[in-house]
Amino acid sequence: MIGSGPGGLTAALALARAGQKVIVVEQHYLPGGWTHSFSLNGYLFSPGVHYIGELGPGGAVRRLYEGLGLSGDLEFCEINPDGLDHLIIGDERFDVPKGFDRLLARLTARFPQEAAGLERYFRVIRGLSDDLARLDTMLEFPRALLLPFKAPNLVRWGLRTQEDLLDATIRDPLLRAILAAQGGDHGLAPSRVALPIHASIVCHYFNGGYYPRGGAKRIPLAMIRALRRLGGQVRMRARVRRILVERGRAAGVELAGGEVLRAASVVSNADPAITYGELLPPELTIRERRKLRRMEYSTSLLSVFCAVDMDLRSMGYDSGNYWWYRGKEVGRIYERMEYQLPRGEVDGLFLTITTLKDPGHPTQGDHHTIEMFTFVPHAPFTRWKETHTGERGAEYEKLKESLGDQVMAAAEHVIPGISRAVVFRSVATPLTNDFYCASHRGAAYGTAKTPWQLGPLSFSIGTRIPGLYQCGASTLSHGVAGASVSGLMAAQRIAGVARMDDLLGPADGSLRVYPADRPEEWLHKRKATADELNETM
Ligand SMILES: Cc1cc2nc3c(=O)[nH]c(=O)nc-3n(C[C@H](O)[C@H](O)[C@H](O)COP(=O)(O)OP(=O)(O)OC[C@H]3O[C@@H](n4cnc5c(N)ncnc54)[C@H](O)[C@@H]3O)c2cc1C
Repeated sequence: MIGSGPGGLTAALALARAGQKVIVVEQHYLPGGWTHSFSLNGYLFSPGVHYIGELGPGGAVRRLYEGLGLSGDLEFCEINPDGLDHLIIGDERFDVPKGFDRLLARLTARFPQEAAGLERYFRVIRGLSDDLARLDTMLEFPRALLLPFKAPNLVRWGLRTQEDLLDATIRDPLLRAILAAQGGDHGLAPSRVALPIHASIVCHYFNGGYYPRGGAKRIPLAMIRALRRLGGQVRMRARVRRILVERGRAAGVELAGGEVLRAASVVSNADPAITYGELLPPELTIRERRKLRRMEYSTSLLSVFCAVDMDLRSMGYDSGNYWWYRGKEVGRIYERMEYQLPRGEVDGLFLTITTLKDPGHPTQGDHHTIEMFTFVPHAPFTRWKETHTGERGAEYEKLKESLGDQVMAAAEHVIPGISRAVVFRSVATPLTNDFYCASHRGAAYGTAKTPWQLGPLSFSIGTRIPGLYQCGASTLSHGVAGASVSGLMAAQRIAGVARMDDLLGPADGSLRVYPADRPEEWLHKRKATADELNETM
């Protein structure tokens, strides 16, 4: 397994459970890819996980984690069910509640004149999500002939954008902005995002949002522990420089130091830009390299990690995500962020208070840790890509800190007074993403999920090289859930089992979930694990 992102570790663990001998090699010194966490000055940050859906009773991700035997090592906090996403658009605010019926009722009460449009809008969104859930079996011939009957929403809307659906159903500019405001979950404007992807992400959170206790790293750590119990190995700081192909078949990998690991199957959780662009011989990948040149990648981002000396809970803040937009033109803001750096002011911001999502989260004293993101293109940073952290010079540092200041200024709209209360701050650019997560051009979500880059038009789990498989954000879908399912699909192919479910143990309801905003009900019972939470590899 090349890479320890959620796709890679899910595949590795599922295969180990199926009795295979597995080794995971990861270039970073921390495991998890975008699910890694890092510590700075005693504060813990987890850039790539802010909420995961489907972890309530009967949820698909709960099924996966319980089925992989992770319940003993992994716990979640449920984030505010009355507002898992707080959308702040200019002077307006809308809180997205848990539960589709509550969401629809809240939207309809606020926009009664749009009631019929909202019904139509969500009928398509939910229909698409249902169709997608059936899709992997539907694309095979002759079942594909039934597609128009079994997946009618997909046939009609599969190659359309969210904007197409908004245009057909919703008129009110504020409502359109609200429905576009979770776009940061894929990073694309309504005019660009493939409707099926937008639909599946929105539906993913209908039944609540959950945050791993102890930070995102608890997910890879739980998986690695389970993997090691089954005899699997994980090696950090082990960069693969070549996938070995012998007699037309994947035969193993060669690490940067020259060590060769032979294997009957190789799975790459590295992005296809790395797999095809760097790890395989060019003569074997002409078609894939051509495809890579055509592929658009998702936008990159600027991150600000900070700690503040403020009593945010008593000020009324909670575990929900805060999405702030300067005005109702949310779609235009996303379009602009893809190709243009902010000019003096940031127009869109995502802010999360991790110490409220996860009471008991490692921090210094009573300080709260906050993570903030705004999308930026990679191009303005590309000229420094061959340089290392700390050696990029004054111009780079000035640009980085000035963007950090602009993010802080935008954060004042969410938490007035925050700038004066900051006790720690660190800014990360797209180059940081490249360095730590081996992302392609700093991409937040792998390939851009536009209509012509999905499903059979994206990168497939199986490859043209026998014995070589792929998984991760640029295959099936991005997100912890999407990447994990792609890993399970790769494992299914290798293990040769009929259904992905065959790789999982029983869903026994054992995964523990605590209410993030009511720590007084449970935290005292769990405080003993604070040391455990600081565990590293
Ligand atoms: C800012 C941000 C916020 C996000 N928030 C959420 C969220 O709230 N909820 C959610 O569900 N998703 C979220 N995501 C998305 C989610 O984190 C990712 O889509 C997902 O983790 C990607 O998983 P992956 O399996 O593709 O692997 P990746 O995380 O991309 O990991 C791939 C791994 O492969 C390794 N690798 C690459 N090349 C090599 C090589 N040559 N040798 C060895 N190792 C190699 C890399 O170092 C990396 O560890 C967020 C992403 C970002 C950027």
